[in-house]
Amino acid sequence: MRYGIIIMVIIMDRMNELINLLNKYAYEYYTLDKPSVGDDEYDRLMQELIKIETNHPSWIKVDSPTRKIGGEIISQFEKVVHDVPMFSLGNVFNEDEILEFDERISKVFPNHKYVCELKIDGLAVSLEYRGGKLYKAATRGDGIVGEDITHNVKTIKTIPHKLNEDVDITVRGEIFMSKESFNKLNEKSIKNNEPMFQNPRNAAAGSIRQLDSSVALSRNLDAFLYHYPNSKFNTHYESLSYIKKLGFPVNPNIILCDSISDVISYVHKWTEKRNDLDYEIDGIVIKLNDIKMQDELGYTAKVPKWATAYKFPPMQVMTKLTNIIFTVGRTGQITPNAVLEPVKVAGSTISRATLHNQDFCKEKDIRIGDYVYIYKAGDVIPAVDRVELKKRNGSEKKFVMISSCPMCGSKLQKKEDMVDYFCDNVLCPARNIESLIHFVSRDAMNIEGLGERIIEDFYNYGYIKKFSDIYKLDSKKEELIELEGFGNKSVDSILSAISKSKENSLERLLFALGIKGIGSKTAKLLAKQYSTIDNLINTTTDELSKIKDIGDILSSNIIEYFKDEKNIKEINELKSLSINMIYLGEKVIEDETFKNKRFVITGSFSNISRLDLKNYIENRGGFTTDAVSKKTNVVIVGDDPGSKYDKALSLNIEIWNKEKLFDIIK
Ligand code: NAD
Repeated sequence: MRYGIIIMVIIMDRMNELINLLNKYAYEYYTLDKPSVGDDEYDRLMQELIKIETNHPSWIKVDSPTRKIGGEIISQFEKVVHDVPMFSLGNVFNEDEILEFDERISKVFPNHKYVCELKIDGLAVSLEYRGGKLYKAATRGDGIVGEDITHNVKTIKTIPHKLNEDVDITVRGEIFMSKESFNKLNEKSIKNNEPMFQNPRNAAAGSIRQLDSSVALSRNLDAFLYHYPNSKFNTHYESLSYIKKLGFPVNPNIILCDSISDVISYVHKWTEKRNDLDYEIDGIVIKLNDIKMQDELGYTAKVPKWATAYKFPPMQVMTKLTNIIFTVGRTGQITPNAVLEPVKVAGSTISRATLHNQDFCKEKDIRIGDYVYIYKAGDVIPAVDRVELKKRNGSEKKFVMISSCPMCGSKLQKKEDMVDYFCDNVLCPARNIESLIHFVSRDAMNIEGLGERIIEDFYNYGYIKKFSDIYKLDSKKEELIELEGFGNKSVDSILSAISKSKENSLERLLFALGIKGIGSKTAKLLAKQYSTIDNLINTTTDELSKIKDIGDILSSNIIEYFKDEKNIKEINELKSLSINMIYLGEKVIEDETFKNKRFVITGSFSNISRLDLKNYIENRGGFTTDAVSKKTNVVIVGDDPGSKYDKALSLNIEIWNKEKLFDIIK
């Protein structure tokens, strides 16, 4: 008996501890936009509390985190009372729990349909329109009272100021920041020595809760609307079609499911494809389609009983950082990298992650021996999010920035106002190998067969030390054939690719040279403008400043590059080896298949680079754009296409698969 009481006290203590922890985390997350733990940790503690409360319903406190929506409102914004409360969502974490949710619904309504939606990882918003005009926008707040954020919401381009009908309506949805805007924002933060945002959700929430709307404007926020409370339709799906017709952005991946197995297939599909989207999703929302059925089931204090959110397994994984190594890029930039105990993140095994620069390591206080959280968002290379401080035992070694190049030993240089260190030794082997790899790459000189490994081997054997050596390899043919792994055929094919590259138009060479800040697009701009490399060599800062898109930094990089005698010597050497240095121009070919049409390319193609494909289209009078919209004429789909493919399907846009493409351009 006594033993039983002791157990009860322990459980009750744990319950109180969980409540305190969850309240603290909710305050950091919702009110400060600065969470100190991951969502998976918060969800785990919440599930533990729910379990205790389910077993001991009489202990449940009125203000338990299991009954509260969102966080405390302390901001300086006007408060808005929601006419219909804004709810949170219940969670399920695996297939069994999805089936249990379905069983609960099926008991009441044996025949029903679901709508499946992506769970956008942003922040909820309520939009009120009067006479078809945007009147008020508010955050969810505690579900009853939110904050007036109309001034910031008006900066979001996809949210209409005026609807296609002059109606009074309230709709709800999610404001988010795309991965691309998030990456750009953080790149800017690094450059300006400002603290970085943890993830797109935080960045979006931080941007929307600002008094000055120019901040939100500059952050490029976006939104999807997914709820029409007080709908005049019979089903949720019809409501969505209607709000779309009114002009609201509605996510194109929403589907109507006849059965729970369709729901599970949708969950599988998006668990696989979530990384292809340009925005983050943290799960799938499953909603009962029939609105009368929804009304009958009703709500708990916090969530609707007719919907639930399947939460994806965490994308952040904790592992041990066993060492920090430094790599040298082709411009000499030094990057610290974490060596990790191998761990699976989002489907791939990770054993290295970038640590960006010394400021990043110091700001996050990353030490050798620490346990760190790793994440991989979209195309982003694996990175360290934060250290698990609770796992420190005192044996960890503080981060120390190196002072000399790990490859050549030269003293590292840090330019004023810049965060990064550089190895300035132009003869540094690491720099040289990286710049040779860049020189032959697809969008540069496009020398097929000369891969990274071969470049490294040829460099180490002493065959190529600089660009021009690549064009002298034919004189070493006999020796190359004798090397392990090479034969007559492979050497011949490399030499013929090298010879073919001599005829490239100037823009490829300009990009290949690796002038700081000159990407393939700028290289093309310069090639078009100057026609020959000699014209560019003789240009002036004044002349460059007149070209749109060439700023002061780029312009001084170009001038400095051509001022360096070593570079001029190498260019002359390349000239003597018959490398073309003239812009060959775009021969505009009249082609009705392409003329005046808008193309979007998604996925990769083994026999043509995306840049070449773009050029091909543009040379035939077509346009290429990044995003699929109603105006797109054709979407070209390669291997591993992204979400653009799904969008094209949903908008019924003509699709060319690889076979069709190569049929046309053969
Ligand atoms: P939730 O995020 O689990 O689900 C509800 C919300 O989902 C809605 O309010 C809406 O904003 C959003 N949503 C996105 N797409 C939707 C769609 N298609 N249809 C309907 N709703 C959609 O619940 P919540 O109350 O906002 O937040 C709880 C979650 O927040 C936790 O599970 C946890 O992941 C996270 N959290 C983390 C911390 C932390 O410290 N890391 C603290 C508090 C909360």
